[in-house]
Amino acid sequence: MPTLFEKIIAGEIPADIVYEDEHVVAFRDIEPAAPVHVLVVPRRPLPHLEAAGRDDAKLLGHLFLGARAVAEREDLTEKGYRLVLNNGRDAGQEVPHLHLHVVGGRGFGWPPG
Ligand code: AMP
Repeated sequence: MPTLFEKIIAGEIPADIVYEDEHVVAFRDIEPAAPVHVLVVPRRPLPHLEAAGRDDAKLLGHLFLGARAVAEREDLTEKGYRLVLNNGRDAGQEVPHLHLHVVGGRGFGWPPG
């Protein structure tokens, strides 16, 4: 069964895509938690971090570089931003397709809720 994010990548479900390259696709979260809230999703799906092997090191690197590209395009670099990776049940991961949240445009507290 393709994940929701695979369907977005395939163009079967509409999304507001803000960045894409050969490795990742980034689109606005449908329920934004901040003025900027973009999801960076690898084109090749991994359900969670535990599914990644050594061969996936480049994919994981491209995920971070994709997040940085989004931050630059959204003008977040100077003020800063937060990257979030919800991995598994306790973290509240909803979509079993590894992804980074890029959130910014306001301040964030620590520790996270
Ligand atoms: P996570 O909890 O880390 O798995 O995050 C999944 C995120 O996907 C949530 O922040 C949702 O708001 C977001 N989301 C769910 N459906 C869509 C959609 N169709 N387009 C964009 N974002 C979505």
